[in-house]
Amino acid sequence: MSVFKVGKATLTRIEETYLAVYPPKDIFPELTDALFNEHGHWLAPNHYDPETNKIKLSVHSWLLQLDGHKILIDGCCGNQKSRPQRPFWNMLNTPWLDRLAAAGARPGEIDLVMCTHLHHDHVGWNTQLRDGKWVPTFPNARYVFSKLDFDYFQKLDSDPANEPTEFGSFRECVVPVVEAGRADLVTGPHRLNEFIEILPAGGHSPGHFYFRLNVDGNRGMITGDVFHHLLQVFYPYWNFPKNSDAVEARVSRRRVFDEAAASGSMVFPGHVGAPFAGYIEKTGSSYRPRF
Ligand SMILES: [Zn+2]
Repeated sequence: MSVFKVGKATLTRIEETYLAVYPPKDIFPELTDALFNEHGHWLAPNHYDPETNKIKLSVHSWLLQLDGHKILIDGCCGNQKSRPQRPFWNMLNTPWLDRLAAAGARPGEIDLVMCTHLHHDHVGWNTQLRDGKWVPTFPNARYVFSKLDFDYFQKLDSDPANEPTEFGSFRECVVPVVEAGRADLVTGPHRLNEFIEILPAGGHSPGHFYFRLNVDGNRGMITGDVFHHLLQVFYPYWNFPKNSDAVEARVSRRRVFDEAAASGSMVFPGHVGAPFAGYIEKTGSSYRPRF
């Protein structure tokens, strides 16, 4: 289990999957053989699998324990979710809930669920199937969703050309939470409490957030899908596929990297491989990961 401290806050990675999934050049067409060789020494085995020639991506949540509160950040794909378009994450049956309990939180103990954005791999555990109905997994939690994302995906989901949006996850994992009266639709920037701020970093999705943590001067940033792979720290221009606005995604990435480097924040991304969290340093016009 990967456990990190930001001052008195504890952040624990709750793994759902950690797999070799995509050929690198399918994801990053800018990746030349020369660049690949230049980075070969650190890519394998945590960020690239030489046997399958695929990059490795983790799908995980972060459990933030702070001041007696248990906050779940991002909800992975979830179990029993039919995603035939995403074979790696189709009809999963992982012990994610057991891992969450081992990290110190049973579902009833989660106070708050915060989604960086509303893509299918960040909302899955929001709900569980009970008696044929999708119901909130965390009965005592408020759920923080991006209002901009909610409006965007609601519109897509009501369009016959696009529905059901996000492989059905909007209907299964977001709408039932709103209908149960448990969701707070938030527009950033927004201060959640004395330790946590919600900031916009759109582009991967329109209302994508990152969460800024300041615990008595100790700083962390939970960055969702602002970047997916450490190669993008060296090459912030490289987008991961699937963005609502590719130009905005690049601007947001540089802005988040600049803040991380200037503030010395520990960065907690949504999909980067082991060791899963670390620091970003500025190098002239670019950046370097210290993970
Ligand atoms: Zn994601």
